[in-house]
Order: sequence, then C-alpha cells, then structure tokens
Amino acid sequence: MTDTPSSSDFSDRQGIGQDQFLTILSREEALARFEAALFPRAITAEARPLADALGLALAENVVAPIDVPPFDRSNVDGFAVRSSDIAEATEGRPVRLTLNGETIACGVTPELTVAAGTATPISTGGPVPRGADAIVMVEYTHPAEGGAIEIRRSASPGQFVSYAGSDIARGEVLLRAGTVIGSREIGMLAACGEHSAPVARKPRVAVLSTGDELVQPGAPLPSAGIYDTNGAIVTAAIAENGGEAAFLGSFPDDEARLEAAMRQALAENDMLVLSGGTSKGAGDVSHRIVSRLGKPGIIAHGVALKPGKPLCLAVCDGKPVVILPGFPTSAMFTFHDMIAPVLRRMAGLPPRADMQVTARVPLRIASELGRTEFVMVSLVKGEEGNLVAYPTGKGSGAITSFAQADGFIRIEALADHMPSGSKAEVTLFTPQVRVPDLVIIGSHCTGLDRIVTPLVAGGRTVRILAVGSLGGLAAARRGECDLAPIHLMEEKTGRYNEPFLEPGLELVPGWRRMQGIVYRPGDERFEGLDAREALRAALGDPTCLMVNRNQGAGTRILIDSLLGGARPDGYWNQPRSHNAVAAAVAQKRADWGVTIEPVAEGAGLGFIPLAEEHYDFALVTSRKDRPAVTAFLAALQSEEGGKALEEAGFRRTIAGEAI
Ligand code: AMP
Ligand code: MG
Repeated sequence: MTDTPSSSDFSDRQGIGQDQFLTILSREEALARFEAALFPRAITAEARPLADALGLALAENVVAPIDVPPFDRSNVDGFAVRSSDIAEATEGRPVRLTLNGETIACGVTPELTVAAGTATPISTGGPVPRGADAIVMVEYTHPAEGGAIEIRRSASPGQFVSYAGSDIARGEVLLRAGTVIGSREIGMLAACGEHSAPVARKPRVAVLSTGDELVQPGAPLPSAGIYDTNGAIVTAAIAENGGEAAFLGSFPDDEARLEAAMRQALAENDMLVLSGGTSKGAGDVSHRIVSRLGKPGIIAHGVALKPGKPLCLAVCDGKPVVILPGFPTSAMFTFHDMIAPVLRRMAGLPPRADMQVTARVPLRIASELGRTEFVMVSLVKGEEGNLVAYPTGKGSGAITSFAQADGFIRIEALADHMPSGSKAEVTLFTPQVRVPDLVIIGSHCTGLDRIVTPLVAGGRTVRILAVGSLGGLAAARRGECDLAPIHLMEEKTGRYNEPFLEPGLELVPGWRRMQGIVYRPGDERFEGLDAREALRAALGDPTCLMVNRNQGAGTRILIDSLLGGARPDGYWNQPRSHNAVAAAVAQKRADWGVTIEPVAEGAGLGFIPLAEEHYDFALVTSRKDRPAVTAFLAALQSEEGGKALEEAGFRRTIAGEAI
C-alpha cells in the first residue's frame, strides 16, 4: 500500500494484486488538465426552428436583417398631423384641420399626404403617412362640421411616433453567440422575421453503466442484484446540461463485450460517459479499455474529491471519455462538479449559475484531510429564523442523500473537519430555498408517513430527517425542528421517552410498535414457539446466527435484557434499523433478530411478539402553535389517522394512557 488514503468509496477494493491510484490529482488540477486537452474546440452550428431552440445556446451572433418597427408607427389612436400647424392650439383656441379621405388602421398603407392644414385619422400601430410628423391623441380633439377636426393641444415633432428601427436597427447585433435562448430571445428573433436560429448542436453523449450486478429498472431484482441507478441519473443530467444523451444500457464486467460497445459508442457520439468499474481492482475493466481507445488517453485517474475519488477522465481522439464512480451519489457529484462544466462548454452554454445561501452547520462534520469534500445538506429554519444546514449524508452509496438535500457545502482539502456552529456557504441544487412548513427530525417510522400524507395533500411542505432518536432530541433542543420522533427506553426503569425530555420540550403520545423475534418461516427451531422457548432454542444451537441492533437503540436494550449476558454468534452484527434486521434474516445472513411487526410482515418473516415499543414525539413547546404543527397534531389524533396507523400495523396511544 503506498499513498492511498482509505476511503469509503473503494478502500474495500484495495486487496492484494490491485493497481494503486499512484497519482491522485487535486480537483482543480484534474479539471484544468481535462479542459486543456479538450478546449478550445469548434462549436458546430445548426439552424433550429424557433420552437425547438428553447434552452439552447446561440452558436453565432444574430444580426438584425430588418428595422423594427419597419416603418414610422403611431403609438396611439388619434390623428396624424404636421406639428407646425397646431403649435398655437389650446383649449380656448382650438385649431381646425381638414380631414383627409382615408383612415389608417394597422396593416393599411397610407396613400394620401398630410398637407398643411390637414389631418389623417390613424390607429395605434398604423404607419405614419407622408407629410405628418406627429400624432395627436383622439382625447384632445373634437369633431367639427364639414369633415374637419378641432385640435386643442399643441404637439412636439415626433410626438407618439415610433421611428423605423428605433426598437431594433437593421445591421445591429441582435443576440450574441453563447446567449441561451429563452422566450424573450425567441420574441426578438420572431420580431425580425427569423423562423430559425443558429444554435450550437447538442453534443451527443453515450451513457453506459457497467457491473455484473446491474439490473434495469422494471425487471425483477435477483439475489445480490442492484438496480442501475446511474444510467437514469446520468442520462437526465446530460439533458439538463445541454447534451443529447443516448443510454446504451448496462454491461457486465466483460472486457471484450464492453470494449466493442465503447468503441462503437465513441465512433457514433461526441462524448462517452460510463459509470462503475473505475477502481483499479481485478474486475474493473473500464479504465483498461479507455487507456487504449485513443490519444492522449487517460488524463486523471484518482481525484482528491469526496465523494468521487476513483473518477477517471480521459480524452480519446479529441473526445471526452469519463468513467464515473459506481456509487450513485459519487457519480452525481463528480458529474455535476467535473463533467457538467465541460459538457456545457461543448454545448456552447455558459457555466451554470449556482445559487448560494449562508447557513449554520449544527454539528461537527469530520472530513478527510487532503480531499475536497462535498457534504449534502437539508435546510431548515433555526430559532431566530436563520438557515440551518443539516448533513443528509448516509455515505456515498446512498441515493436519498442527494434526493433529500437542498444543496451542498464544501470542506476544503486542507481541513480535517468543519466545527459545529460554523457558517457555511450552501450551493443550492434548485434556484430557490424551500424551507418546509413542518420539520420532523428524529427516528423514522413508516407510520409517520401515514400521518403526514394528508398534510402534504393539503399543500403543506413537510421534511422528515431520519437522524435517530438522540439526534432528533438534540435538534429539538436547538429549536431546529417542530417535532422529534423518539423511541428511547430508560434502562433502569423500563420507561419510554418521557425521562429523556428537557425543559422546552413536551411529550406528544404517538403509537406503539410490537417488537418480536423474527425468523424465516418454516425454520423448525422457532416455528410454533413462544418468545422464551424461541430464545432458548436459539441459544441452544451453536449454528444459529443472530443479528443484533446498534448501541443506543431501544430494541438493543430489549435484546440485551433478553440475552442476560449471553453473547451468541452474530451479536456483533449491529445494523442501525429495523429493516436491516429483517433483510439480514430474510437473506440468510442471520437466522434470528428482533424487529417490529410491520417490518417483519413486509419482509415475509415469522414473528414472535415480545414487547411494545413506544414511538412518541418530543414537541418543541415554542413551536406548538404554528399552523403546520397544529395540523400535524390534529392528523395524529383524527379518526383517519388512527385507522391509517392500524392498517400499517401500529397501535395509536390513546391520550391519557400511561406512557
Ligand atoms: P464499482 O465502481 O463498479 O466498483 O461500483 C461501486 C459500487 O457502486 C458498487 O456497490 C456497485 O454495485 C455500485 N454501482 C455501480 N454502478 C451502479 C449503477 N449504475 N447503479 C447503481 N449502483 C451502481
Ligand atoms: Mg462494478
């Protein structure tokens, strides 16, 4: 092992017989080298009908082919006159003009000259007739006998006239190359009579996913299979950044097949984006193929970024070829940070305008020294209305961290952490900050989704951040949430939740969740037994493997009290959620564990009831009267709320029932 710091992205791959990431470039260096190998390059222009040009960049300047307006035009309804005729006109001494025998409506070419002492009726938008130099509004005139009109005000020359070319002058640069075409630009082009625009041709980008385990969404998931997430993400992100993506599917890690597909894709497209197989392990073939696809080849393989270290950037015969890391969050980050800027430049688009806001970071965030680290955050409003940025990260393998986040903060390569309470710049994923109406931070439960559903249907925005019971209590103490769902048992008394409250917080009863022993149906060691017998059977069989829970979980306290000091095989397998326990047993990584009934049922497992867990809410008293909180409490106590919880397998706690 040489200079490779361990990382969650690929440390598991640093086995014997693997190449190393010998040269890790900084993010800035890698991007600079990549761009230097690609730019400058010509942008191909193509004419697109206006209707299809929206969002594209102009490849060339557009010069106005005509004057707009094309003729001197009246701005009002009134009379075209010679201003010198009415220089003396007032209310008391109106000037009388003879009407010419035509009326100039829009689209009518004037035929008669406005001679001295005459006027021609004209509508808004009508061409100003020969001889006239001003328009008098109809409001300041009065019809007179004998085909004449009285004018009661003077007019300066040019009054209410828009001269030819005053809006757009023929020969001027109407729109500059690089302008992104929006509705306003389309309007300008249409005003000049242009039915198409010379836009930068969208770069064609082939997208391939790699990995033996990948399955396309829509197909059933086999054991050890993973749905191809990157294919869909990358395809969409390319379209968002001005490219035309062609998704070619997912390929197994088969060097010959993959190479054939990559060569064909590269021949037919302007750019190639792969994901997966970028680590330097034995099964990771993509980078080996890239290294022989064309000159100059690999520019960077290994970038000091987190997430995203195994990123591979190459240029093959002038075309960018990129291998994104396999983990979807890493793939997304590296795409947006390193690939989108290059793609946008190829598409003739300006760099993306990032929106930033300042927010306080409520917890210490550890960071790896030497790597620029991006941490995704969710924004909520703090006590004084200031923004608070909560890390949503669940590791680079988690897709939800991206989907739930409002933006990200950046921890520089030279820092090993960001202190709690820091002010940080948050780069937003969307142009607006959306601060939710109701913020729930703590332990998650599927029952919670049932209660908030009607609130969301009623137009309220709700954010639920799953940080565990203790994390929720800390957030509530800091006033960063309205409610913290908790299920904490005090070990010495066996009491739930209430002992953990602090001043400023009050307990709102939630619901009960039956916890019990889960096993695979048909396992004769457990089938038909009660809890005590089941436990005895499990402990009596040395091949029977358990799955535990993490320290601090209420269920863990229950398990430890059941075991009474025994440490059966599997005790140190300590996942952090009810679902993970069920998955371990269902997939035979363990034979028994303790989880809640709805989760056991959902996973198709046998269930032996043990004890009810109390899932309640710590309510921040100062936020009690906020409308969204009142609505939540009403939904919780409503008849429908009770029914929905029951359907989901929970028993609502009746108000007043001992907690
Ligand atoms: P790799 O870089 O191929 O070693 O992949 C690293 C991790 O990312 C593995 O857990 C893969 O299963 C996962 N992964 C790779 N490609 C994808 C993909 N297209 N969609 C979802 N997960 C992926
Ligand atoms: Mg792979």
